[in-house]
Amino acid sequence: MLIPNSFGLTVKAKNFLSIDTSDDLSELHSIKENSILILGACTNVILNKDIDKTIVQVNFKDIKMYEDYLSVGGGVDWADLIEYCLNNNLYGIENLTHIPGSVGAAPVQNIGAYGVEVSSFIHSVECFNLLTQQQETIKRKECKFEYRNSIFKSKNYIILKVNFIFHKRFVPNLSYPALANYLIDNSIDKNSLTPQMLSNSVRNIRNSKLPDPRLEPNVGSIFKNPMVRSQDLDNEFLAGHRWDQVDGYTKLSSARLIELIEPELNIPDTLRLYENHSLVLINNGEASFDEVISVLNQIKSKIFKKFKIKLEIEPEIISS
Ligand SMILES: Cc1cc2nc3c(=O)[nH]c(=O)nc-3n(C[C@H](O)[C@H](O)[C@H](O)COP(=O)(O)OP(=O)(O)OC[C@H]3O[C@@H](n4cnc5c(N)ncnc54)[C@H](O)[C@@H]3O)c2cc1C
Repeated sequence: MLIPNSFGLTVKAKNFLSIDTSDDLSELHSIKENSILILGACTNVILNKDIDKTIVQVNFKDIKMYEDYLSVGGGVDWADLIEYCLNNNLYGIENLTHIPGSVGAAPVQNIGAYGVEVSSFIHSVECFNLLTQQQETIKRKECKFEYRNSIFKSKNYIILKVNFIFHKRFVPNLSYPALANYLIDNSIDKNSLTPQMLSNSVRNIRNSKLPDPRLEPNVGSIFKNPMVRSQDLDNEFLAGHRWDQVDGYTKLSSARLIELIEPELNIPDTLRLYENHSLVLINNGEASFDEVISVLNQIKSKIFKKFKIKLEIEPEIISS
């Protein structure tokens, strides 16, 4: 069967298992752990044309409010969760508006945007452990959340549900300069800002910078922003495109690094870097997996050669 993906690559898989109810989990016992590929909405994966593994997709679609937490099925669309929170006086994730994908994938790379990471609202994650073949609930601390990282990258867990605790009082996070500037430029008074207004603002900023994958196939940012020891950096290096962290490290803008080597790149006609954001690679229509990998490697090696900085690819590369 064909596997739709936001990068518009033609991908075929032999086997597919949809987890619609807990009973479907029993099917997993007969499949070898290393021949399972867990996928959500395929907005953060670069897939080769033939996938030998069994694709497993979680389709739990419930959102249930309990006294102190919200339980959300892994198959719920992230946009639907944002909508639910806006309608139910649950605050905090407005800054994560308009990130494509499923709730089940959100903890995997600890999705983040505009100064907020999803891990801040996660109470626990309900999973099927592929090693023990048992269901288990993993508390936030044990998830080892970091910038674009968590234990779920180990591939040992199928995330079935995510339990969230949101704020009961609306305290907007306007720490991200682009967001604060948007409010000023649009004469939005931060004292009268509502959650809906904040969510709309984030959506507007994103729409002005990021291409819609349905029109311009892409997987969002192709590289993580590298963290470098501040003491190893020249003070002037990447001025305006670097952010000091609390732990003696500085986060650098991958987009800016790419801009600096862009003229040296040899990109085939099937691909291009997005005009409004050089961290986004667009499939012009007929790109192949090999072409994508070759462009990513080219960018990595040119940046390393010029700046001695190692870039890490953000989406997962799945070659078979
Ligand atoms: C235009 C665009 C903008 C984006 N902007 C952002 C952004 O601002 N911030 C950000 O953090 N990300 C961003 N992304 C990346 C992407 O939206 C997120 O990573 C999202 O969480 C991926 O969800 P998905 O359902 O499509 O996951 P997939 O792409 O299907 O899978 C991603 C990874 O999660 C694993 N996975 C998926 N579902 C499960 C599950 N149920 N259990 C266990 N593992 C699972 C997969 O094996 C894979 O490793 C963007 C992507 C696009 C295309």
